Amino acid sequence: MNRNTPITEIKGVGQKAQALYTKLGITTVGELLAHYPRDYETFDLPVSVSGAEPGEICAVEGKVLGIPNQKKIRNLTILNVNVADASGGMQLTFFNMPFLKKTLKPGGCYVFRGRVQTRGGAKIMEQPKIYSPEEYQRQCGQLWPRYALTKGLTNQAVQKAVRQALSFYEFEEEYYSPQFLEKEHLLPVGEALCSVHFPENMDLLQAARKRLVFDEFFGFLLTLQKNKELTQELENSYPMLETADTVRFLERLPFSLTNAQKKVWAELREDMAGEHCMNRLIQGDVGSGKTILAVLALLMCAANGCQGALMAPTEVLAVQHYETVCKYTRDFQLIFKPVLLVGSMTASQKREAYEKIALGEANLIVGTHALIQEKVVYKKLALVVTDEQHRFGVRQREMLAEKGECGNGPAGKKHPHILVMSATPIPRTLAIILYGDLQISVIDELPANRLPIKNCVVNTSYRPKAYSFIAKEIAAGRQAYVICPQVEEGELDNVENVVDYAEKLRTMLAPSIQIAYLHGRMTASDKNRIMEEFAGHNIDVLVSTTVIEVGINVPNATVMMVENAERFGLAQLHQLRGRVGRGEHQSYCIFVSSNEKKETMERLDILNRSNDGFRIASEDLRRRGPGELFGVRQSGEFAFQIGDIYADAGVLKAAAEAVDSLLAVDPDLVLEEHAKIRQHFAAAENSVDFRSI
Ligand code: ADP
Ligand code: MG
Repeated sequence: MNRNTPITEIKGVGQKAQALYTKLGITTVGELLAHYPRDYETFDLPVSVSGAEPGEICAVEGKVLGIPNQKKIRNLTILNVNVADASGGMQLTFFNMPFLKKTLKPGGCYVFRGRVQTRGGAKIMEQPKIYSPEEYQRQCGQLWPRYALTKGLTNQAVQKAVRQALSFYEFEEEYYSPQFLEKEHLLPVGEALCSVHFPENMDLLQAARKRLVFDEFFGFLLTLQKNKELTQELENSYPMLETADTVRFLERLPFSLTNAQKKVWAELREDMAGEHCMNRLIQGDVGSGKTILAVLALLMCAANGCQGALMAPTEVLAVQHYETVCKYTRDFQLIFKPVLLVGSMTASQKREAYEKIALGEANLIVGTHALIQEKVVYKKLALVVTDEQHRFGVRQREMLAEKGECGNGPAGKKHPHILVMSATPIPRTLAIILYGDLQISVIDELPANRLPIKNCVVNTSYRPKAYSFIAKEIAAGRQAYVICPQVEEGELDNVENVVDYAEKLRTMLAPSIQIAYLHGRMTASDKNRIMEEFAGHNIDVLVSTTVIEVGINVPNATVMMVENAERFGLAQLHQLRGRVGRGEHQSYCIFVSSNEKKETMERLDILNRSNDGFRIASEDLRRRGPGELFGVRQSGEFAFQIGDIYADAGVLKAAAEAVDSLLAVDPDLVLEEHAKIRQHFAAAENSVDFRSI
């Protein structure tokens, strides 16, 4: 078996299982092995009965007292067994397992593992797993992988398939030299792959993870360097001059730019007028006012007789931007002739848009990545702005360049200016690495009219208070968001989901309060409609997954309540919080945690104490160790499969240095000793290259 072998070659994976794996995006053995565990189950040493905490999964070692008691209720056989150790007793209940009556001998000693509950003040376990003490001893210290699943596919089945795949897999030859592995303290690639699935202990797991993370970063940075080479010296194909349009627009705006915005605007003007093609990133915390800078640059572009495009990662955000520019165009009589281009438009709407773009009747095109698809032909595309979570790889840049002068262009490609906007708070040292191919501008100041958001971190018993608070804000004319984690059916238990939650809220809040929900599995046009209704204040409370985390601007919304806050990374929670506090009203953020572990509360408390995205990200980085990484969702823009830019910052820096020294010696990887690296990462390039969400 190799990475391209279809998974049906694995014994036990038939047609039915194949369909389930396809749902998870797995069709080949390579993809199965890259389906890294979500987290690991560990078997801790047994605790005493008196020390077993209700709510926790634990193992107790005890003696069976007396003969198990069996009852039959309709089709259900219920077996109750009393066990005890020196510290106390506990009742165990088993359903439909009558044979246990014979297995569990009075006086016999066993280890029982399950979730501890209380019934009438006494501790119980239902359906615990049973081990002999020796058997249990062997399990201890091992880590068992838990995979992301889909309904119908069990964890056990995936474990089995992975185990088989690993035993028949022809591992790729190691592509780094032994000296390199030693210098970077990396496991060989095959070993890493085995150990990430079935680690013998925590140390091996961390080592395996490190190797895979290193490779992921290494591949990403190699591509980035290529990108950088390509773009650095590009001559300015579309030199532009500032005109009265932007000056007048700024004069008429109801607010004046912050000093930070002014500084960045000057940088943009200089870039677009300068010798080289612009390749710039604007990094600014949520709410720092990036959109207006994009509008200014696009206006300068239009005033110079060119076309500009504004691209967003989701339709919802694209539509919002389109409406913002339409409003600016009307209110300030700007020279924009905007069109919208998103996937959910009808074929004839799209055709109409294509035509306007090709003829140059539109000078501002707003949309999703539909904007760079082949069908779109531009008249004179001179500036592309991307907002949040999309970067261009080498190929996309080439594609854009081809579009630059399509139709009537002279020979020789012209490259449009590129402006990327991001709210992902990344400490400067990492930003230089991750955005190595771009110039960086930072907006390090929020508009002055903002009141700091008031935060609280609470447990679920606070909900009634939160609901009455939301009702009060709504009565005052404001709006609220409630966020629940997105859940693939059957994947996570004990997690709130938007559909049921919205239903529940309807019973908790007055009927006059309009409640709707939003999630990623809805159609694009449904999502757009709900967002429009929310922006237009026909909806008071929006129950949503994190699909709204990116860029949405509804300044009238003042409450952000996040359920299961413990499941999100801090940087992501900060993004969510950024959806409120965008207007003149006092805003509030309620983080509800479903567990009260000390570390969770402390971690969330960081949000309580700081409103500064950069500080939060660095705290996140300081606190999270690789052991805790599995299961915490990562920030979207750099959605690496296994690496986490914050927690693996050290590995990221090491990979960056390694790429630099490699390319310093052999920029095109032509030396014989680098052939394997070139081959491996050429294949990987297609998959890691600048993903959007
Ligand atoms: P982000 O940087 O998160 O994309 P936006 O560009 O959406 O933020 O801006 C958030 C809000 O702040 C918008 O309603 C915008 O009109 C407003 N805004 C932007 N700049 C200023 C400013 N200098 N003074 C006051 N309000 C501003
Ligand atoms: Mg924005």
